[in-house]
Amino acid sequence: MTARAPIQDPNLLGKSAEELRTLAQALGEPAYRGSQIYHALYAERRVEVAQMTSLPAALRERLLAESAIALPRIRKTYRSADGTARYVLALDRGGAEGREGSRGSATIETVFMPEERRQTICVSTQAGCAVDCHFCLTATLGLIRNLTAGEILGQIIVALENNRDTLKPQTNVVLMGQGEPLLNYDAVMTAMRILLDPNGMGVSPRHVTLSTSGIIPGIERLAKEKVRPKLAVSLNASSDAQRDEIMPINRKYPIAKLLEACREYPLRPWEKLTFEYVLLGGFNDAPEDARRVARLVSNLRAKVNLIPWNPGDLPYQKPDAARIEAFRRILSEKGVPVFVRYSRGQDVLGACGQLALLESAPGSLTQISPAGA
Ligand code: SF4
Repeated sequence: MTARAPIQDPNLLGKSAEELRTLAQALGEPAYRGSQIYHALYAERRVEVAQMTSLPAALRERLLAESAIALPRIRKTYRSADGTARYVLALDRGGAEGREGSRGSATIETVFMPEERRQTICVSTQAGCAVDCHFCLTATLGLIRNLTAGEILGQIIVALENNRDTLKPQTNVVLMGQGEPLLNYDAVMTAMRILLDPNGMGVSPRHVTLSTSGIIPGIERLAKEKVRPKLAVSLNASSDAQRDEIMPINRKYPIAKLLEACREYPLRPWEKLTFEYVLLGGFNDAPEDARRVARLVSNLRAKVNLIPWNPGDLPYQKPDAARIEAFRRILSEKGVPVFVRYSRGQDVLGACGQLALLESAPGSLTQISPAGA
């Protein structure tokens, strides 16, 4: 018998159906065995090769010896009184290239939010982030490295498996954790194709949202994709001067150009754009801001999510309830669909980046007791 070459990239997680069919053939198996691996891994969430009982025993043995299903490891879990679980996940070496061109281990955050009829999972697309939004703790980490498609999907699988006994029929996924998804485009879209594939993880595109700080070339690229999640744009300001102050990316992609890209974006019949607006007390929460935001989004099929600032160790104020309500009412009276969204799990370091910062610089925040991983 001829010796076969070892599998080049042994991690099965993150591989597309086509890649798994090619891998099956490289192992001397018919291509359809790759489709079976794909189905077992993503549709049935069988995260151990030994559980893939649709495969012949000899193939399982070969995969066990030569491949891996590398899931992120739960380093800590913080359980909130509202049921939210915030995970600190450790990624092993072998990820995408990072700050020093290295492929290194990293720590990221993933959040699982149970609701009455569904769960929402908030995933990271990069470890750290280079975009430098001044209201975001992740920005203080800088970009550590891009995540691979397997690491993005792995967060969803870990969160689902860790809450297996209480899962509701519907899963929502939001790409709103650490990182700017459109600056890790290829890995994010590889993961999205598997997530949204009815033969893969089978999540509906109506239930998956990619949130961007406004990377226009990425929005234009996303517009051309046949399979894609919904798009949310993190606006957070009512003028360029204001946005420049908290989101330096605005100097590169100012509001008018960003909104032009949004106008060109081909929405599906059921789809609306989402604009996220973090309300920073005394900074961008005045009635004039609300009126300007209403004008900015007036000719777009869009809704606005107002997110009252979740106090962290940054110099911003929580907006007061009357200002939040006044802001909401102005938008609503101008015909803009508007919702107020409070961060879940505020008692367990609910602001974006807080957990990772705690992990990377343990003295930097007030530590709370983890619920235990
Ligand atoms: S808000 Fe998002 S894009 Fe901005 S620095 Fe934080 S993680 Fe990056």
